[in-house]
Amino acid sequence: MSQTDIPVYGNHISGKETPARDGRRFVSINPTTGSDWGYFAESGAAEVDQAVESAHASLSRGPWSELSPTRRGRLLMKWGEAIAANADRIGRIETGQNGKLLAEMGAQARVVVDWLYYFGGLADKIEGSVIPLDRTSVLNYTLREPLGVVGVIVPWNSPTFITVEWAAPALAAGNAVVIKPSEVTSASAIELARLAEEAGIPPGVVNVVTGGREAAEALVDHPLVAKIAFTGSEAAGKAIAARAGRRLASTTLELGGKSPNIVFGDANIDHAEVGLLAGIFAAAGQTCVAGSRAYIHESIYDRLVARLVRRAAAIKIGDPLLSDTQMGPLATKAQLAKTQSMVEQSLKEGAEILHGGKRPEIEGFPRGFFFEPTIVHKAGRGNHLIKNEVFGPVLTVTPFRDEDEVVELANDSRFGLAAGVWTLDIKRGHRMARRLQCGTVWLNTYRAVAYNSPFGGYKESGIGRQNGIESIHQFLQTKSVWCELSDQVQDPFVLRT
Ligand code: NAD
Repeated sequence: MSQTDIPVYGNHISGKETPARDGRRFVSINPTTGSDWGYFAESGAAEVDQAVESAHASLSRGPWSELSPTRRGRLLMKWGEAIAANADRIGRIETGQNGKLLAEMGAQARVVVDWLYYFGGLADKIEGSVIPLDRTSVLNYTLREPLGVVGVIVPWNSPTFITVEWAAPALAAGNAVVIKPSEVTSASAIELARLAEEAGIPPGVVNVVTGGREAAEALVDHPLVAKIAFTGSEAAGKAIAARAGRRLASTTLELGGKSPNIVFGDANIDHAEVGLLAGIFAAAGQTCVAGSRAYIHESIYDRLVARLVRRAAAIKIGDPLLSDTQMGPLATKAQLAKTQSMVEQSLKEGAEILHGGKRPEIEGFPRGFFFEPTIVHKAGRGNHLIKNEVFGPVLTVTPFRDEDEVVELANDSRFGLAAGVWTLDIKRGHRMARRLQCGTVWLNTYRAVAYNSPFGGYKESGIGRQNGIESIHQFLQTKSVWCELSDQVQDPFVLRT
């Protein structure tokens, strides 16, 4: 690609493509080829202020706040249809920027229509209530009102999907949004904003400012931003919550994980093998719910681990645009370096590699950020790989004796996002679901999500929930309205006889 073929994107504010002040820009890299992918506006406080003012104006002066909830919901549905109609193009843009398989990125862009239908449908079902006070002369009722401007800060691993998971309930509740995409994958958010307006959503309701931490912090600090919806790393989530707390702006956080994937001796071993592999290697480990800690009952440990190693060795690594590729590169050079150094650290602490652990040579892509599917054993409880999220294709395997021991091991983590349990014993399955400290438990399946099923973290994996009815309530506030219906007014300065 010549220098002139490289796309240049500005911010998307009030429906217009707007460059950053002084022409500041940054480049994103294609992780498969190592070449420049596109240029983006490097935004700071000034650009964020412009975007927030634009979102705020769409609420304070209309037109967004003046639309009926039904009409608002319909527009969200149309937006979903527009994204789905462009799913292949958006998928290619995302694969070009984060290196994940086109099959997955395209499917995510297609499926978000379900989220926009679901939350679009909820827009006119947000109801207040009438409170039966003990004063019969007073009518007391509640109004469920939007918060105002919501800042949406997202990561690179599933950019369109995660952006819609936040924007759909926020907009359905009547808020306007300013999206700050990851600096790794900024393009698809801008494409989404353009499609929002093509679908009839008024300009100013969906704005995008690109940039890194400076832009994100300016959004968190802006006095007109009522709430931050954030998906990303544990470290950034904690920094954002603390920062937002300084001015009492609320946050909903979806953070990292170190999810256990547990196989009992009575499991269907073929299914468990697929669940373990898919849980960690399907997205090169770059998913918040990666089943990165496998705990396997000692009765089947050797047999299942041998099968996992055989399957990992056969995974086809290469160009994520090709349909027969099973694993692409990692998204960034930094992510590759982090993955390598975490494996090295774990080995220093006594773990051993069963498979992988290196950068493979991929024909035609000498500069790609590829890393082998890696299986590590003998990682003890305090091992670096057991305690920390890699966000790469690295699986630890550990044997266990019984249910109590594995519950102890699985819960021994500051994270609590998800867990998988493989067993044919129905009682044990549901017992485990209760005993595991995390927001999602998958029994005999893994990595499933739905627009109507709540998703989120226990412990340091987050605060709040995405998806499901609970999610929309996080973008609403309640007003209590009191109305005296009688002609009597209680004057506190007049003594009652
Ligand atoms: P990241 O935290 O580095 O970045 C996420 C976003 O936050 C980006 O837009 C970035 O610019 C911004 N950011 C980074 N540091 C910041 C700071 N100090 N203050 C304000 N903003 C900041 O995460 P990433 O590397 O893009 O994504 C990977 C992480 O996201 C993993 O930890 C993964 O588990 C998590 N994740 C969680 C979920 C979930 O639903 N729980 C889903 C996907 C990814």
